[in-house]
Amino acid sequence: MAGYDAEVIVVGGGPAGSVAAAALAERGRRVLLLDKARFPRHKACSEYVNAAGARLLADLGLERDLDALGAHRMEAMLIHAPGGRRFLADFAAAEPSGTALGLSRLRLDALLLERARAVGAEVREGAHVREALTEDGRVQGVEVTIAGVRETLRAPLVIGADGRHGVVARSLGLECALRWPRRTGLVAHYRGVSGLDRWGEMHVGAGCYAGLAPLEEGLVNVAFVTGSAAVANRAEPLEAFFERGLAGLPEVARKLAGAERVGRIRGVGPMAHRARRVAGDGFLLVGDAASFLDPFTGDGVYEAMRGALLAAPIADAALRVGDVSAERLASYRDVRRCAFWAKRRVAWLVQGFISTPALMDYAADRLDERGGARETLSGVLGGLRPAREALSPVFLARLLRP
Ligand SMILES: Cc1cc2nc3c(=O)[nH]c(=O)nc-3n(C[C@H](O)[C@H](O)[C@H](O)COP(=O)(O)OP(=O)(O)OC[C@H]3O[C@@H](n4cnc5c(N)ncnc54)[C@H](O)[C@@H]3O)c2cc1C
Repeated sequence: MAGYDAEVIVVGGGPAGSVAAAALAERGRRVLLLDKARFPRHKACSEYVNAAGARLLADLGLERDLDALGAHRMEAMLIHAPGGRRFLADFAAAEPSGTALGLSRLRLDALLLERARAVGAEVREGAHVREALTEDGRVQGVEVTIAGVRETLRAPLVIGADGRHGVVARSLGLECALRWPRRTGLVAHYRGVSGLDRWGEMHVGAGCYAGLAPLEEGLVNVAFVTGSAAVANRAEPLEAFFERGLAGLPEVARKLAGAERVGRIRGVGPMAHRARRVAGDGFLLVGDAASFLDPFTGDGVYEAMRGALLAAPIADAALRVGDVSAERLASYRDVRRCAFWAKRRVAWLVQGFISTPALMDYAADRLDERGGARETLSGVLGGLRPAREALSPVFLARLLRP
């Protein structure tokens, strides 16, 4: 360890970085976590943690903290199709005690970061990483600016958990935007939204969708997602664009009548991207830094945390034997593929449905009538049942037959 500042530098203290840092610190590794922000901080997100994510947070021992923070438990998601049809994706029916969570990222991310600190990771906030440091053909640390001073921090392993367009992937030339979907997400908090006690809602329109997720203390997260070109080329201020978009979805407009926006609108786009590789000589990528498709299926936070838990034992074993080569770390790519491939395919299928209003109407109608298919899809969307169940020809026939 001579000449190193830590055994692992984790760049980014979102869900992926905090969970990775904690899992490695718990294994006895010397971990340095760097984030450019100071926590608590807001993050543009619909702030819905799917049922698998809620279960993972409970496994991390955080259930009581989440309750103390007022996390809102959601038994289901009511999904509205463009033509007015709708169906209830009922997680509790798919698996007893299956509930999703609504909690602001202000609270959730600070909780996860504090947990990482508590189990021994050294956390530096306000530490802006400028690039990955590459020497002798492998990553050996980062260049970072802390309090206006640029410094080099060294470690044999760097974990890029710095989100979409993260600097670690970018400086290694691994960033790759997807040509489709090219959507931008706009989110804001509201107070006074009615009728959202037991579930959240998704509303699909033509070329757009909106999400409503109840959070702590009576707040509701309202998201509007539409084509990035429409957002970039708008002829009106962002607030007017956001409100006009929501007003175009009649059920959403009804729910928001009398509600009041709290705080500003946050936006991100285009959202879909991936890194060409998630592991290489001296580095791993976790969470959005590795890939992100679209928020509709609500997998982002869960996959960020799960990916971190997949990375940690591989990183730990590599550090123990003093070999952090691409070959040694390659199994991370394989375990990720195994964990996420089926849900990724489901997410792509869902993209096809939400981009084709007639197909979405057709499917919503069938799902409303067909309990078996609805239960399977609810379990899969919540991450409570294997995603491959929603890819089976039997399921697809049950869903799509007239
Ligand atoms: C509009 C929108 C809505 C979404 N809705 C949902 C949802 O409802 N449910 C869901 O599960 N997912 C949702 N997602 C996805 C979800 O937000 C991400 O998947 C999740 O945040 C990924 O976590 P992460 O830790 O990988 O990255 P992030 O949460 O992005 O964290 C990255 C961290 O890295 C830090 N960082 C970045 N660059 C640097 C740097 N150069 N130096 C130091 N630190 C740096 C940042 O400050 C940040 O704290 C949504 C995404 C968008 C855009």
